[in-house]
Amino acid sequence: MKFRCRLLVLSFLLFLTAAPVSANTYEIRVLITEHQTQLLVSAKAEYQIRSLPTLTVIKKGKGLVNFPVQPSARGVKVGNEEFAVRGVRVETGESRDLMLGSAHFRGAVDILKDPQGSLYAVNRLDLEQYLYGVLPYEVAFWWPMEGLKAQAVAARTYALYQMSVSHALEFDVKNTTSSQVYGGTMKERYRTNLAVDKTRGQALLYQNKVFPAYFHATCGGVTAAASELWKIDIPPLAGKVVCNYCRISPHWKWDSRVPLADIEEKLNQNGRPIGRVLNVEPVTSTPSGRVGSLKIVGAGGEAVIAAKDFRVWLGGDRIRSTFFSILVDDDTAVFEGKGWGHGVGLCQWGTLGQAILGKHYTEILKLYYPGADISSAESAKKP
Ligand SMILES: [Zn+2]
Repeated sequence: MKFRCRLLVLSFLLFLTAAPVSANTYEIRVLITEHQTQLLVSAKAEYQIRSLPTLTVIKKGKGLVNFPVQPSARGVKVGNEEFAVRGVRVETGESRDLMLGSAHFRGAVDILKDPQGSLYAVNRLDLEQYLYGVLPYEVAFWWPMEGLKAQAVAARTYALYQMSVSHALEFDVKNTTSSQVYGGTMKERYRTNLAVDKTRGQALLYQNKVFPAYFHATCGGVTAAASELWKIDIPPLAGKVVCNYCRISPHWKWDSRVPLADIEEKLNQNGRPIGRVLNVEPVTSTPSGRVGSLKIVGAGGEAVIAAKDFRVWLGGDRIRSTFFSILVDDDTAVFEGKGWGHGVGLCQWGTLGQAILGKHYTEILKLYYPGADISSAESAKKP
């Protein structure tokens, strides 16, 4: 079974959505912390703690404040009691009642012992509720609703794709930028929750399958193909979508002055020493017009580096995209660039620009993911 489905209590919100929606929903498993020697659990009202994997109730009651869970030689220590278990599941009666440290969570939290003997925690919750927590990290709550809805569908599709390829692991996604940033319920806002509700169950499908519906801050004029960065080549991620809607972005154009000595240091740190750096120039470009690779000439040799790696080495804040030109001015490389992010899929500032112009969320999504259908996630086949 690719997704873990469970019945949904019927919601009248189903009737407010434009596209067909699913009667089922999905549970997502989010890694929220790892390598811990102690986790503190709080619950405002009723709670129960079950053993894993047997799900036997080992403790229940009303109200917990910073109750410690620790790894022990035999298993896990819950308060002062030791249990020979792999981990425990903490559940509360009411959504948002559960806290781990200072963060609030919906759903349940599994606390498990890793092979090294430290603890990690996995929040298990409804995908739609997970999206409540994700959206505010990606967009501003004040965006026009159609823009928020476009982002909600892209984020849902991206999460569903990750869930579909993660079945061998004990969690589907991390709570960091390696997946989508998620901090429990703390950042939830009414309007971003509403955008999730209004698109409930809707995902982008290509040939009836979900795909990694990437998104980025600002494309800078044209989107990049996923194949420029990763091993994926499907029409919805083929890039070359012309987008001037992100002209309103503060990242539409940028420049960055990088001392050649800094580039020398990064080359040394990454095992490509060529001595004092004398020149930096693009040598190949990608189909969308971004820099593919750079040639760096040093006193002791030359190095050709993929621009995407160069960007990671120097930092994404400093080299905001690979859509740049370079001029070497004395001992400094001057990068003049466009956009922020990898440029693949949905352009977030372009989404805002289109929403301000009154575009419908389905138009926005069809521009950035050409050939994709917007349909119920339930109708998707396994990728
Ligand atoms: Zn754009």
